Amino acid sequence: MSASNQPPKRKFLLMSRLSLTRDKIYKTVARQLHGVVPCWLCGQHVLPQDATLEHIRPLSEGGSSHQDNLAISHGKCNNQRHAKAAIPD
Ligand SMILES: [Zn+2]
Repeated sequence: MSASNQPPKRKFLLMSRLSLTRDKIYKTVARQLHGVVPCWLCGQHVLPQDATLEHIRPLSEGGSSHQDNLAISHGKCNNQRHAKAAIPD
């Protein structure tokens, strides 16, 4: 593990690749559903600026970052889901 040695540039590239994937999925769903992009967590339409990518099957449970395992959700819903998941029962 040498995470501290990673140049910032690498992080930036990773982020921009994810946001490209997000835009691609967003546009694909919008085209299929005639402009509506439902949040996969609450079902409400997601505005482009609110859209985040959600792993349908979490990485921690063996999910992949392939497009098949990604869905659009509100940033808010995404955060709530993770906040809930982080609270031990
Ligand atoms: Zn939502």
